[in-house]
Amino acid sequence: MNWEEMRQIQPTVMTMLEKSVEKNRLAHAYIFEGRRGAGKKQTALLLTQRLMCTAQDHEKPCGECRECKRIKHGNHPDVMTLEPDGTTIRKAQVESLQKEFTYRGMEPGLKVYIVNDADKMTASAANSLLKFLEEPESPTLALLLTENVHFMLDTIRSRAQKITFAPPSLERRAAIFLEQDINPNIAALLARLPDEWGGGNVLENVEWIVHARGLVIQLTEEVYHRPQQMLLTLQEKWLPHFKDREELDIGLDLLLFWHRDVLALKHRENDLAFPDQKEKLEQEALHMSETVLAQRLQWILQAKRRLRANVNAQLLMEHLLLRLQEGS
Ligand SMILES: [Zn+2]
Repeated sequence: MNWEEMRQIQPTVMTMLEKSVEKNRLAHAYIFEGRRGAGKKQTALLLTQRLMCTAQDHEKPCGECRECKRIKHGNHPDVMTLEPDGTTIRKAQVESLQKEFTYRGMEPGLKVYIVNDADKMTASAANSLLKFLEEPESPTLALLLTENVHFMLDTIRSRAQKITFAPPSLERRAAIFLEQDINPNIAALLARLPDEWGGGNVLENVEWIVHARGLVIQLTEEVYHRPQQMLLTLQEKWLPHFKDREELDIGLDLLLFWHRDVLALKHRENDLAFPDQKEKLEQEALHMSETVLAQRLQWILQAKRRLRANVNAQLLMEHLLLRLQEGS
């Protein structure tokens, strides 16, 4: 996604950032707050590119120069990304990152921290980061990304400028994928998923999603019509494809979308995540009451929460499938 595309998705945020850059009035620290998929991570990278781009276009980053490319691929020496190690971001992580900046920072010039899931910073990690921001040896910008701003420490919230991202419109997101010649069935799913995962841009994950989608269609068919097969499919196909927590979370999202489609059809709504499965989903809608559907959606959401607590993937999935299959 480039600057122009992001401006269409988040016009308020991008205009605000543009003005601050143009007037040279960027804050030292920003909290980018908004729902998953709103484009926070992408905006952080675009802003960093804009500040470091060597092509002399003052309106937007070129995306092509060495600086822009290194930022995009996550290997720019002056740009550091912090993520939770397990469930928290610890002080040691911040410190080792600062050490690395000191080693690498031979040249003056801007340094950027991008902190994903910044609400997961422990108090000591946050203090350590703030201290660094307050006594920078060279200009430093911290971009703190979060879906849960209310979990962030007051000390950080009071010292960073908060920028709220609008929830992305599905239509807009799907349109962007269609423009890139993505199959409409895949675009419908990508539009509902976060901007990136597994360290890659969604576009790099198209093949993976095609396969994931097939598995969700197969597994739901088995859960509701051929339950004797579902655990085998789980073992032999599902678990090998959704290999880690992040991927399994996407798998659960897809299961959630499938059930939401059934619910949408009960309400005669047509904006589906699985548009080519409409006939089949309509059949399912005839057999599932709204109460049962609501319960199933709850169970999937609950599985997503348990996943965050590091529950064993196989146990979690077996438990969920059996619950779904038993239904009401
Ligand atoms: Zn550039």
